[in-house]
Amino acid sequence: MDLESEKSRNGANHFENVACPFCGMACDDLDIGPSGNGGLKVLKNGCARSIAGFERPLVEPSPQVDGKNVTLEEAVRAAAKLIQTSKLPIFGGLGTDVEGSRAVIALAERGGGVVDHAMSPATYRNIRVMQSSGWLTTSLTEARNRADLFIFAGCDTHKNNPRFFERVVCTEASMFSDNPAKRTVIFLGEGLDQSAAKGNRIGEVLTLPCKSDRIGEILDAMRALQKSLALPSGDIGGLPRAAVDDLYARCKASTYGVIVWDPASFNFPGGDLTVNAICEFVKEINATSRFAGLSLGGNEGVPSASSVCAWQSGYPLRVSFANGKPEYDAERYDATRMLAAKEGDLLVWLASFGDNLVPPETDVPTIVLGTPGLKLSRKPKIFIPVGTPGVDHSGRVIRVDNVVSLPLRKLRQSKLPSAADVLASIEAAL
Ligand code: SF4
Repeated sequence: MDLESEKSRNGANHFENVACPFCGMACDDLDIGPSGNGGLKVLKNGCARSIAGFERPLVEPSPQVDGKNVTLEEAVRAAAKLIQTSKLPIFGGLGTDVEGSRAVIALAERGGGVVDHAMSPATYRNIRVMQSSGWLTTSLTEARNRADLFIFAGCDTHKNNPRFFERVVCTEASMFSDNPAKRTVIFLGEGLDQSAAKGNRIGEVLTLPCKSDRIGEILDAMRALQKSLALPSGDIGGLPRAAVDDLYARCKASTYGVIVWDPASFNFPGGDLTVNAICEFVKEINATSRFAGLSLGGNEGVPSASSVCAWQSGYPLRVSFANGKPEYDAERYDATRMLAAKEGDLLVWLASFGDNLVPPETDVPTIVLGTPGLKLSRKPKIFIPVGTPGVDHSGRVIRVDNVVSLPLRKLRQSKLPSAADVLASIEAAL
């Protein structure tokens, strides 16, 4: 769809109900207008993260090969040549939309490479649990309309998904009641920002301070209580036994409880076991109470990349096409591990949302398709500036709860190509 047909009836360059691509929430209620200096301004429903993204000034530098300006066609030809001569290219970063993800997987398939996302280390804490024992999760909409208890397990939601409280936890209306009950909000962890838990809908706000790597013990203990098993009388996970009993009683008494976590917060050995403890407790307590998990984060397009990879290969990321067919190995095809072990000889890196998704330090030649302001520590072999989906071109992203995809709109005139178009051109030149 072209820019003219995207404009709202409010006038030139004023867009309503815009979907935001800058975190996994994909809020779709923003108003964006002109800034007065040729850029964009968030007029309504923004947060600091979305303002930084939408109001980033437009710059349109030339592609570069070996630090020298070239045309896009020359950069595409040079990239195709590098991929053609590579024994095992690694396609990493994958900060892109659904279309970009489809294109990069098609290119990896053609070029015989490995695909992995920059956020995979966190995402795999979830994927391992999904694969091994399954889980019972809810959607943003279901949580907003039904939950009377939110437990934030070790995650500072404010940082990664800034409007989660505003859009889900603190909303006063519910689809199912004219007078919805107040919500209890419990922060399970150390130093979590509670400032957003406020407003008429919020009842009690409690803090249970414990270290992130001990949250699993607390969930396991509550699971034992649900199974009527005996527990020792002392502290559990750094909490007094009475606090664990009280937390369990609140879970049992709730009509719809939700445990929220962000896998990025469990960055310690065995972090996936904490996700597992949460999910097993949720499954167990559903025998007598309604309860669900909700994993947040999902930034830099990781839900889009993992979904597209699953649709197209049957596996969620960390897939190799080197043998002409998709081969899945969550350990072997970890891009970070492969680069450190020098198992790939070319890195193709995608980062089209923010300026901070930089490639890891590596000696292998690197092709970067990135935002013009990407904070690269050194010049890659090839740099092709690309537009941001939902700003410079239309597209689609999958929301963090994996239940909907949101259409993204082109909001400004930009010469920056989409990552999908550049990747398709490279594939055509192979
Ligand atoms: S919370 Fe996330 S999706 Fe919503 S406006 Fe902020 S950055 Fe955008």
